[in-house]
Amino acid sequence: MTGSCSLIETGDTKILIDCGMFQGSDFNEGKNSDPLVFDPKILDAVIVTHAHLDHTGRLPLLIKGGYDGHFYATPATIDLTRLILEDALEVMGYNNRKFGSPILYDSTDIVGVIQQFKPIEYYEEFAIAEAKIRFHEAGHIFGSVFVEINADDKKVVFSGDVGNVDAPILRDTDALPGGIDALICESTYGDRIHENQSKRREILEREITEAMKRGGVLMLPSFSLERTQELLYDLNDLIDRQHSLPRVPIFLDSPLAINATQVYRKFKGYYDQEADRLVKAGDDLFQFPGLTMCETRNDSKKINSIRGPKIIIAGAGMMNGGRIVHHALRYLPESDSTLLIIGYQARGTLGRQILDGVSPVKIMGESVPVRAHVKAVGAFSAHADQEKLMDWIGGGESLPKKVYLNHGEPTASDALAKRLTEELGLKTTVVNRGLTVKI
Ligand code: ZN
Repeated sequence: MTGSCSLIETGDTKILIDCGMFQGSDFNEGKNSDPLVFDPKILDAVIVTHAHLDHTGRLPLLIKGGYDGHFYATPATIDLTRLILEDALEVMGYNNRKFGSPILYDSTDIVGVIQQFKPIEYYEEFAIAEAKIRFHEAGHIFGSVFVEINADDKKVVFSGDVGNVDAPILRDTDALPGGIDALICESTYGDRIHENQSKRREILEREITEAMKRGGVLMLPSFSLERTQELLYDLNDLIDRQHSLPRVPIFLDSPLAINATQVYRKFKGYYDQEADRLVKAGDDLFQFPGLTMCETRNDSKKINSIRGPKIIIAGAGMMNGGRIVHHALRYLPESDSTLLIIGYQARGTLGRQILDGVSPVKIMGESVPVRAHVKAVGAFSAHADQEKLMDWIGGGESLPKKVYLNHGEPTASDALAKRLTEELGLKTTVVNRGLTVKI
């Protein structure tokens, strides 16, 4: 996955949108250590669309490189970015001790970013030099925005990442404003159609019930941000309201996910109608009978001593680190265990190997046979699929004059570009890394 990072110039003003880390195979190739392609001191402002690491992971490099201006983001994005960057620093420290990979910045650079943040609410117009800017709901993760920039009599929109349809908790992606001269849009799933979202709770219920019938442990590797909160929200519905799941202990074994959940609790104003209604009726969306939050390493170890069927939700989402690895080491060899994969698994990760049927797998230097049942559900994606992107781009007040597609594998971007051109008659360009466009 590429690290998102776009530089806009209008007159003498230079605005950067996002500055993320490369993930997956790009991460392994060490691309994060490449120097930035611009001098951070030339920037007038930085906008952060959302807290995901591939949009925020290299922000501290700007401070390290001498940038002393502001970072503009929604209050929820600011809180979540702090958690994500602190976690990234910890992971870099671990990887440095284990594999000798570089630590890109230190905690003072992160503090620098946090101190320079300027909170901006959705729809509040603000100015950077002569440019007038407004954030709209992207519906991708909590606090996520797409950005409307008006300057030089031109209107340009940056999509950031566009959310899936009907994601729980989150409001839907806002319609595009009219009169857009250029839309710069992500295309991560530009060639794919997701499973139906409305079936996700049903699928989850079925998989959990089957796993519990086997009598073993159900492991749910989960991304700490958004995916875990949506999972808790669905479990809360199934357990607390519908009483449709067997009563077993459930553990959330991830300090980052626990802290991120607190941010979701803090900004209730960002909830969609359903979540808002439930909260107003007195429901705690992320807490239900049987759920234990495991903050410390000791809490985590105690999970082992609980006998019988149980559910463990732990990071990392692709099993390439985090506490899930310890549980996998212990429970993958047991034939009554289940591993339920709910997110994208990048090539080269432990999750992908298991999904591809590799056994035994190597975990912390040990050869581990996979006897557990391995299941995968695709309905939990945080990204828009091809249909949603078509509807969103084509469904605004008027069609954008030009569309530039970025942030996708070439096959995904090309497939979406073809449909936009053929079905909507849109001038569409696929923008590769490092390309400059004049609008
Ligand atoms: Zn994202």
